[in-house]
Amino acid sequence: MTLGFLPFARPTIDEQMISGIAETVRSYQLTSGPQVQAFEKALSDYHGGRPARVVTSATAGLELALLACGIGPGDEVIMPAQTFFACANAISRTGAKPIFVDVELESRNMDLKATKAAITPHTRALMPTHFAGHPLDMDALYALAQQHHLRVIEDAALAIGTRWQGKPIGSFGDIASFSFHPNKNMTSIEGGALVFANTEEAEKVERLRFHGIRRLPDGTRDVDVVGAKYNMPDVHARLGIAQLERLDEFNARRRLLVARYFERLSDRFSGMLPIKGDEGHSWNMFAPLLPLDRMTISRAELMKALHQRGIGSGISYEAVHLTTAYRALGYKEGDFPNSERIARETLTLPLFPMMGLEDIDRVCDALLELTPQ
Ligand SMILES: *Cc1c(COP(=O)(O)O)cnc(C)c1O
Repeated sequence: MTLGFLPFARPTIDEQMISGIAETVRSYQLTSGPQVQAFEKALSDYHGGRPARVVTSATAGLELALLACGIGPGDEVIMPAQTFFACANAISRTGAKPIFVDVELESRNMDLKATKAAITPHTRALMPTHFAGHPLDMDALYALAQQHHLRVIEDAALAIGTRWQGKPIGSFGDIASFSFHPNKNMTSIEGGALVFANTEEAEKVERLRFHGIRRLPDGTRDVDVVGAKYNMPDVHARLGIAQLERLDEFNARRRLLVARYFERLSDRFSGMLPIKGDEGHSWNMFAPLLPLDRMTISRAELMKALHQRGIGSGISYEAVHLTTAYRALGYKEGDFPNSERIARETLTLPLFPMMGLEDIDRVCDALLELTPQ
């Protein structure tokens, strides 16, 4: 199959998945019923039997995870300055304060030395992102958390199926949050999941995601915590189940395609390619830095030129501390040099399982032509 325009991300949705969605619609069990239960069971099985709960997005999941940990006003949560805005927003919406730290240039993951230095008596949790599917050093992360009695809410939005020393992210550690947005490694259209170390917190999230409702023995309902409306529809869960069945296959395909990117770009983009990682890397994105100083066009012009050649690209991500909302906390240019450099120079190239090696070649040919030596 040859693809026309290459977006930078696209899910694989097969005919069986589409009939599954239709079947669920026809069943009239449209929301938070048997498909949600089955999806949670499948997610739990994938993550070593740990309790899993699905929600409407990873952003909702991060917020509920923080609330389940009792984090709120007066508390600080440390997160990388180079990640998606969702993390900072989720923290802020609980009333807690996001504390940004820089990322490592090569792995693009939160710098744990900087993290340690940012810990104060108000710090309650760490919220690292496993950037683009490459896990943090989990031994170092959890050693730091334990030493300072901190919770860890792993933003694993880009890392479902990622393995650390052979074990899936989320199958160990504290709380992991996954995203099923269509740009991620598997999709439920919109959706997310939390995987927990403990059942009590899973049950807390189960109530928080649906108004805080508790059923009473007499058949009426009580609300004793202020909940939200973040429950996943069954139609979405049905797609999620079918996607999870193919997840490892999708991720293997991503690794194969990325190997071609490395093969084609290693010379010209020496020092600018993402960390290679190992067999456990789930490669949600392939995002080199651009050699802007030796290019005659800007990144925006390059993106336009790629688009004219039928190639989509993206920016993942802008530096969170330099957005208007978070500058208001006192952050400024120069605070986090690696994050700012990545934000300036990064470009996300097309990568999704339906691509062929010839599609990777097409992207590389265009990129090499547009970024002369
Ligand atoms: C996509 C993403 C999120 C949020 O996921 P949603 O399901 O869209 O809410 C959080 N963090 C990172 C790093 C992401 O890429």
